Formats: sequence, structure tokens, C-alpha cells
Amino acid sequence: MSDNILETNVLVLNRFYMAVRVIDVRRAFTLLYRDCAEVIDLDAGQFQSYDFDTWCELSQFTAMEKQPGEEYLQTVRFELRVPRILRLTRFEKMPLQTMRFNRKNLFARDENKCQYCGREAPTNQLSMDHVVPRSHGGKTSWENIVCCCIRCNSRKGGRTPKEARMKLLTRPSKPRINPIISQAVDDPRYACWKTFLPAES
Ligand SMILES: [Zn+2]
Repeated sequence: MSDNILETNVLVLNRFYMAVRVIDVRRAFTLLYRDCAEVIDLDAGQFQSYDFDTWCELSQFTAMEKQPGEEYLQTVRFELRVPRILRLTRFEKMPLQTMRFNRKNLFARDENKCQYCGREAPTNQLSMDHVVPRSHGGKTSWENIVCCCIRCNSRKGGRTPKEARMKLLTRPSKPRINPIISQAVDDPRYACWKTFLPAES
């Protein structure tokens, strides 16, 4: 879990209230401030929407009696509540299934665990390992990259697992739903996302 609030997650919905991606809080405030998105928040069992100004007003009000799971950023004049769901108002994005291959998503898929020794480690102590090395024609893809601790990575070197006599814990594959989302479901901060997520099959 990240200690920096600006790096925590916000679920983005398209105009039709379908979950499309996860962004960080910093980006969420940029979209909100530029009027490209609105905040969706649950109030007395109903989803309400807010633009930047009305969200600032609401923040000042809710900051007086903070609820569990709510987080706030301290601005010069007041506390600004961190939104957890945004809805795009200007343009549409691709559906959730188009999942980007990147470091953050990969580590989330592997739950920050080295796929050789099984040790869990903070992100800065993990690396991305090509199972079949690039020198052997291995691709940079969901199916050929795993999360790997620095020790196992240097032990494996430019070899295949078989050559290095190391065994993969699981066979890497492209996750069906965004791994950041599946990780987040257990976190009370993101409980409000559930309504907008496709049922897991
Ligand atoms: Zn390891």
C-alpha cells in the first residue's frame, strides 16, 4: 500500500458509468480541475456527481466529520477530500479489457511477489524478469515477464529458468481484469468501486 496519497488509486468510468481504467490521485485532480471529469460519490445510498468547485465545497463540509476510508489532502486554505471514482464527461475511453502492460500492472498481477522464490518485497526491491531472455528471442509481454526479486534476478542472469535450474511459481499470463482493481477490492478505501466493476467470472 502506498503511503503517498497522491499515488493511490481512482477508478475512472466512461460516460456510460462503465469502469475503464485506474489512475492516480494526482491525475484525477488534473482531470477534475480541467473539467474533463466529475467526482462520483455515494451520499445516503445515492450516487451524486460533483465538479471541482462543488467537490471542494463538499470536502470542507465532510472534513468536519471524517468517515472511515476517507482521505484528505491538506491545501493552503482547507482539506480537500480524495475522490475514489471519477466519471469522464468529455470523451470516451476504451473498455476495461484493454489492459496496459506496464511495471505497475505487472507487479500488481504478481502481488509484489518474486515468481521464483515467492518472497514479497516493496516495489523498489523488485525487477521485471524476461522468463525467456531477450537474447533467446523472449518477448516483452504478459506471458514472458514476471516480477522477480533482485537476488533471483542476478542468480538467473541471461538464462532460461531451466538453464538456471529455477522454477516459476505460476505460469505468467495476461490478467482478465485489471490487477490493480482486483487487489484494491480488499481495501476499504476502494469498497465504493464494487458497484461499477464487472462481476468476476
Ligand atoms: Zn526471488
